Amino acid sequence: MRSKGIDREAGCDPNVGGCYYHGVYAPTPEEMTAYQAAHLDPWAKTIKYGYYGIYFFSVGIGLAVLLELYRRWVRYRRLSSTNPSKTGFVQAKLLAFFRWVNYLRLPWTVERFIAPVWTSGSVSQTFVLGAGFLFCTGYCLGITYYLRPPFYGSPPLGLRSEWLAMAMLPFLFAFAQKRNLIGTMTGTPYQKLQVLHQGVSGLHFYMSIVHTIAMGISGSRELGLTSSIYVSGFAALVSLIWLCVASLPIFRSKAYEGFWLLHMAAVIAYLGTLWWHVYPELNAPDYMYATFAIFGWGLLIRIGWLIYRNLTMHKATAVLSSTGAVLLSIRTCMRWEPGQHVILRFLSLRPFESHPYSMASLSGTGHEHEMKFIVVPRAGFSKALAQRTANAGGRVELSVLVDGPLGEREDLRIYDNVLLFAGGSGISHILPLFLDLASCQRGDSGRHTLCTRVELVWAVRTLETVKWFEADILKALEGMPDNAIVVRVHVTGQPLGLADAKDDVPEAKGKSALGIELLEGRPNVRATVLNRSQEWTGRVALACKPLSSDIDCANAAAAAQLDILAGAAACDELHLTSEVFEW
Ligand SMILES: Cc1cc2nc3c(=O)[nH]c(=O)nc-3n(C[C@H](O)[C@H](O)[C@H](O)COP(=O)(O)OP(=O)(O)OC[C@H]3O[C@@H](n4cnc5c(N)ncnc54)[C@H](O)[C@@H]3O)c2cc1C
Repeated sequence: MRSKGIDREAGCDPNVGGCYYHGVYAPTPEEMTAYQAAHLDPWAKTIKYGYYGIYFFSVGIGLAVLLELYRRWVRYRRLSSTNPSKTGFVQAKLLAFFRWVNYLRLPWTVERFIAPVWTSGSVSQTFVLGAGFLFCTGYCLGITYYLRPPFYGSPPLGLRSEWLAMAMLPFLFAFAQKRNLIGTMTGTPYQKLQVLHQGVSGLHFYMSIVHTIAMGISGSRELGLTSSIYVSGFAALVSLIWLCVASLPIFRSKAYEGFWLLHMAAVIAYLGTLWWHVYPELNAPDYMYATFAIFGWGLLIRIGWLIYRNLTMHKATAVLSSTGAVLLSIRTCMRWEPGQHVILRFLSLRPFESHPYSMASLSGTGHEHEMKFIVVPRAGFSKALAQRTANAGGRVELSVLVDGPLGEREDLRIYDNVLLFAGGSGISHILPLFLDLASCQRGDSGRHTLCTRVELVWAVRTLETVKWFEADILKALEGMPDNAIVVRVHVTGQPLGLADAKDDVPEAKGKSALGIELLEGRPNVRATVLNRSQEWTGRVALACKPLSSDIDCANAAAAAQLDILAGAAACDELHLTSEVFEW
């Protein structure tokens, strides 16, 4: 395709062609079409690279849907069967292999250096993004026909990268949304899709840069870079650079709400300038329509749900705890699954901000349920909430909009043994999983469970923290046989005067009168996971919070898969469930 807005010069109009422009022959449109037809990648046919991009995403999403169907089928079969089945030998090995690939993470000592600029996710996500990178690089640079002679049409390299970039656009928008079809179909919570949103945005940026360089070289060999196609292209590129650079974790985590507002403004600027740049070339508008539709639908569905969920305004009671954290309670008709979270927006406290918090309670069976939260004061909204509560004498009631529930719906009842790790306020995510399993084991909930043993390990700085949920934990322990439920609290910032012993041997540390085992020092996550995989038979599930122990847990779970593969573990399966809190 010729550049738009070409000037007549030296009596030769390159748009008409058939003449020499500054000593370079500019062909007629017919000559140019004939030339392109005789070579690789005629202009109109390069749209096929966009289709290849769509096939790549479709295959990836299709495989993820099949995995989700398999997961649901396994869950249904296990819970509906009266005879507890065992995992078959081949199935156990295959699962162990796939879980190893999926769980393996960079160790925290390495990850902490990468985290400011890149959310690395699991090895499997990195593998998928790496495959995407090779796919794009292969099509763009692997085919070595990069440029055409001046005036013989757009460079093939610029066209291939353009269509690949266009194909990514609707998907990267879909991955960004809190409620999206891909997440629903693949059973993937939005936080985990964020890694793909960021990764695919990186690939989109990569293809856009390749496109810019190729088009820039071609343009500068013809009529220069001043026509509107270049101006709109550079305008789009500026918005894209802003989107990608300002979204790096190091900037995002400094001022999340500011990041979010500027991100939305840059998205609108990018879509506007991109439309100006691509319209009406071939089927580029179709990708734009798909992107507008996904973006619009995502906004509509979120606002729609928010209104529907808050037809009756929610009231939150905030109470300041002795640890300085705020205990929040909201009565609602909403139901949720253990481990899910909601996004809260307080109308009288920073109403333009909304923040995710995990429900630290179970939704009951009746009409009204109590959502309980722990809000740890940090620098922004959470600190303001703690201050407002303190100023009101330690207790205050506030109107709040509740958006959700969101996040993974994980059913741990299909595992024989469950090991749960929580650090500090990470208990908000873990406690409902624990309470749910305990209530199923006791037969309180009337829901069938295969789980016969639960171990909860909670690391806290001081014993005061335990008070947040002591009553809930003690209630869960009441009347349960020994070893059915074990709760170990590791106190890391306060001496307890207990005998020194290896921190993975609770028996050596003494047991509190109430049934909660108290230990001094940090839990050894890796050793505990590996020990349990050596001791427990059947199927084991593992859940962890927060971040650094997330990584320890994931790598310990990955190491246990190697033991299963080598036949060195007692358990048949070890499944890790991990909710993502930062991205
Ligand atoms: C799924 C999920 C569940 C969570 N559950 C809990 C919980 O139960 N208890 C708890 O104390 N904290 C929880 N958090 C963390 C909590 O949402 C943030 O700490 C809170 O938003 C910080 O608000 P702030 O203005 O005080 O943050 P700042 O002090 O400004 O920032 C602290 C950190 O929070 C991040 N953050 C700030 N605003 C948001 C936002 N709107 N969305 C996502 N991240 C943000 C920032 O990137 C930064 O890393 C959860 C986070 C997620 C994603």
